[in-house]
Amino acid sequence: MMKRLAILGSTGSIGRQTLEVVAANPERLRVYGLAAHRGVEVLRTQAETFRPAAVCLGDPAVSAEGFSVPILRGEAGLVALATDPAVDLVVVATSGAAGFAPTLAALRAGKQVALANKEVLVMAGELVMAAARAHDVVLRPIDSEHSALWQCLQGEELGAVERVILTASGGPFRDWSVEQMAAVTPAEALRHPTWQMGPKITVDSATLFNKGLEVIEAHWLFGLPYEQIAVVVHPQSIIHSMVEFHDGSVKAQLGRPDMRLPIQVALGYPDRLPARYTTLDWTQAGPLTFAPADEARFPCLRLAREAGAAGGTFPAVLAAADEVAVGLFLEEKIAFLDIPRLISGALEVHRPVGALTLETIRAADEWAREWVKAQL
Ligand code: MG
Repeated sequence: MMKRLAILGSTGSIGRQTLEVVAANPERLRVYGLAAHRGVEVLRTQAETFRPAAVCLGDPAVSAEGFSVPILRGEAGLVALATDPAVDLVVVATSGAAGFAPTLAALRAGKQVALANKEVLVMAGELVMAAARAHDVVLRPIDSEHSALWQCLQGEELGAVERVILTASGGPFRDWSVEQMAAVTPAEALRHPTWQMGPKITVDSATLFNKGLEVIEAHWLFGLPYEQIAVVVHPQSIIHSMVEFHDGSVKAQLGRPDMRLPIQVALGYPDRLPARYTTLDWTQAGPLTFAPADEARFPCLRLAREAGAAGGTFPAVLAAADEVAVGLFLEEKIAFLDIPRLISGALEVHRPVGALTLETIRAADEWAREWVKAQL
């Protein structure tokens, strides 16, 4: 059966790879709508190639000239695209808080949703999972680790799970001392050993903050308590994650690091689509090694776990503080080790207000951004 897709965040790294997966599976996948924040040149090229019925530009300040299809604008446009009756599956590959409203709207409209935007689950996991349950939607993870867990859990009872084990490459500073990390430059942090990704997530991988977000994502996606979510450093990134069952059996999902595979698994579910991206030659794969994730050298991992366990708006503060801190680091305004210092500060000062709603999450997000900027 042909699926018609709305791809939110089509000009980003995941969005572009999603379009490669669509192009590789023309009998099964078709683009209905594309949305980008402000990457208007790339969006125009994508629209010419994939001929969507509609496109959306998130940033109201960006000119929308030169499109031959209807242009939707802003958050209302994202929501309209995500709930369009002609759309079967919504790919949420936006970054930051932009994914909240369209994800919730898509779930409430009963759409299939494939989620690459970490912040949506990290900041609003409680609301998103409640909406998914209420509308009987299986949320499809695109993150490689969660795709691995999801694939390992097919046909299994969640109650039989002892723990899940997220693998982390450890980033470029895996073996560095705290003293060495104090002088890290943006160029060094952007050199990820195994995965090709956007700059923000690459820095988040270097601090292990990204793994911390993934712990929170796993908590919401699979409904597991934090004690049942472990992290292990696996520098080769061949094992994408593992599930350990009560009987001691462990299932793992393996492959060469290539995001197109988890994207295709999410888009094709419950089927496996025919396109093939990578093969692993086991005779050339080399040794697979493992090490503990050191929360003393990488405090972002501990901070994320603590914010996740505290719940409420703490994860929103965690994510927003990191986003601003990483931006400041990339602009060379703060040092690498200031990133965890600022996140920790924001979490300590934050006082949650009221019940968890999109509004209180957004308010906490805003507050954390301002707080971090005010520390300069
Ligand atoms: Mg990941």
